[in-house]
Amino acid sequence: MKLAVPKEIWPGEKRVAITPDTVKKFTGLGFEVVIETGAGENASIADDRYIDAGATIAKTARVATDNADVVLKVRPPMVEGKINELATYKKGAAVIGLFDPYDRAELIGKMAEAGVTSFAMELVPRISRAQSMDVLSSQSNLAGYRSVIDAAYEFGRIFPMMMTAAGTLAPTRVVIVGAGVAGLQAIATAKRMGAVVSAFDVRPAVKEQVQSLGGTFIEVEDDEAETAETAGGYAREMSDDYKKKQADKLKDVLAKTDIVITTALIPGRPAPEIVTADMVAGMKDGSIIIDLAAERGGNVAGVKLGETTITANGVKIIGPANIVSSVPTDATAMYARNLLNFVTLMVDGEKKELAFNREDQIIADTMLTHDGKIVHPKFGGEAM
Ligand code: NAD
Repeated sequence: MKLAVPKEIWPGEKRVAITPDTVKKFTGLGFEVVIETGAGENASIADDRYIDAGATIAKTARVATDNADVVLKVRPPMVEGKINELATYKKGAAVIGLFDPYDRAELIGKMAEAGVTSFAMELVPRISRAQSMDVLSSQSNLAGYRSVIDAAYEFGRIFPMMMTAAGTLAPTRVVIVGAGVAGLQAIATAKRMGAVVSAFDVRPAVKEQVQSLGGTFIEVEDDEAETAETAGGYAREMSDDYKKKQADKLKDVLAKTDIVITTALIPGRPAPEIVTADMVAGMKDGSIIIDLAAERGGNVAGVKLGETTITANGVKIIGPANIVSSVPTDATAMYARNLLNFVTLMVDGEKKELAFNREDQIIADTMLTHDGKIVHPKFGGEAM
């Protein structure tokens, strides 16, 4: 079995899908591992370290992926202008990565045409057995951490209260909107740095988690909150009535807040707009807003992906693109581990060959295309 890792070519992408540690494990599973030269350089992994771990280095992506049974990616294969990453993959190869499936119907069609068996890691189900493959959690955790570091860097004040002979500095007030994996890590990070932290989420189950990290939970009194969580543990879209109550509450809170970090997502839908222009207009001069949902449309009115906007009242709104690429070494280490655990699931240890068990929920939920067809029912395929 051959496993290939090409260098990522998406602008700004610094992660790579394999580490020396996972090379060793893949070799142990019976894979011959071939990596394109320079694939790890943005994550501080030189070719030599891959060689020492047992991999072979190829001069080009084409040579690396030629005849590979498994191709590991971070970003979707690029098919644009003269570039066609899919063209170099063999029919039947398992191609695994973050494929952003809800926004890429065209790519899914092209992967079916290319005859590859593609797996979108975002679709790994949130079940206990799949926790070690949960890329959304591993990457959101780092995004939550980094968003606080970025906010602190942009903010003109310090986080903790300081009582000195030269006077007393009040602690920074941080509000986290959306206390899922990223939000909870942001709460913990801001707390560690000495800020006063509160958080808001539509799922009431989150209240205890926020409090256990030392944050205050911002409550919106409404019966609808009881049904806000789906069976899969995600939020659903709320009614206009609920949104109005939430907005009134948040407006008051944000007027006294220095830093806002928003992380609210709804799977398969654009991110809900939660922080309105009116709320931003009520915030203090010098406040910082970091919108981690910017890649899915944003939670904050006026946010621009990959840009910093300064409003008339002096609030900085930042819409990070691919924030985890700011911590590429750790993001790579975690992502590569998630992939190793996922691929392990599809290797027949005795025969040393790939076997896709489509009865397995993890395989069924993540497989987009197979045998020239789209197979995922959510993306135009027929259920098995
Ligand atoms: P996510 O990235 O989909 O959303 C981030 C947060 O935004 C969520 O907490 C969500 O409730 C919240 N949100 C959505 N709409 C909102 C709104 N209008 N206002 C305020 N908040 C809003 O979520 P996630 O971080 O991926 O986590 C989703 C759930 O899955 C959590 O309960 C998490 O603990 C759970 N989870 C379970 C496992 C597992 O293996 N069992 C693994 C990871 C996460």
